Amino acid sequence: MTIPYTTGVHRLANDTYAYLQGTCATGYSNAGLVVSGDEALLVDTLYTLDQTRDMLGAIAASAPGSDICWVVNTHHDGDHWWGNQLVADAVIVSSTSAAQTMRKAGPETVVPYLSPETDPRLRAILEPFDFAGIKPTYPTVTFSGELELTVGKRTVRVLEVGPAHSVGDVIVHVPDERVVYAGDIQVFGSHGVVHSGPIANFIKACDTILGLDVDTVVPGHGPVGGKAEVVQVRDYLERVQAHATAAHQQGKTPIEAAREFDFAEFADLEYGERVILNIGAVYRELNGDGTPGPGAMLHDMVDLEETLKAKVTA
Ligand SMILES: [Zn+2]
Repeated sequence: MTIPYTTGVHRLANDTYAYLQGTCATGYSNAGLVVSGDEALLVDTLYTLDQTRDMLGAIAASAPGSDICWVVNTHHDGDHWWGNQLVADAVIVSSTSAAQTMRKAGPETVVPYLSPETDPRLRAILEPFDFAGIKPTYPTVTFSGELELTVGKRTVRVLEVGPAHSVGDVIVHVPDERVVYAGDIQVFGSHGVVHSGPIANFIKACDTILGLDVDTVVPGHGPVGGKAEVVQVRDYLERVQAHATAAHQQGKTPIEAAREFDFAEFADLEYGERVILNIGAVYRELNGDGTPGPGAMLHDMVDLEETLKAKVTA
């Protein structure tokens, strides 16, 4: 079964759904819904209140009568929890590390990127979004390791697999529906991002998903897929790890390493410039002193984007 990559609620199995926004551009994430009887669990809220309101409206129309009793935030990036205040009556769950990091990852963190002094190319990424009115609404239940929830009559497993994309990544496994919601541990159709690493743990998180008895994998961004797409993500991460390690050894800068990355093998993935963030993460691990900083990497990213565009049009 192929799920169209269009904005709206898509049914995955009997009682599980994905809410997709039809683009892998920054700030447009996926969410999930698991229903049993009149209870429901929502996987992630969205970047803005408008996005989250649209989603909740679509859910009310597609899965009528289901009361969202549970919310799981897969990690601390704003595009997965800044809409929490609209479902504040639910029990909100995340890993302990994600919940701690959320305290310093509210909407105030985007302000520097929207300032007139900021590189306009970076500013343009966030300008489409209206962050007004967001009141950070934090998880009320946190855990480390693994947590089992009962939604109606259905068992839902929440597994901590971070630090990988971020410090406290979790995935949500619905065994009887053979579905897993992977948060940003999986991004399909575009380059994913290693913010935190270690990259080896990210690869291990892919293996954890491959070890689950599931047919359907809902990524944090991009179209719904299955294990074949997870294998591609795993291959990509291994390739980045090997390439960045070799380039580091040869004394190359991250941007030099990124320009030499073999994009041909991953030609079906959009947003190639994001590879610099992943190369930067491997460099940070190897340097062990916090360099290169993620901010510098974002500037390299917009430079790389221009290089890649020039290549396409050349
Ligand atoms: Zn995300």
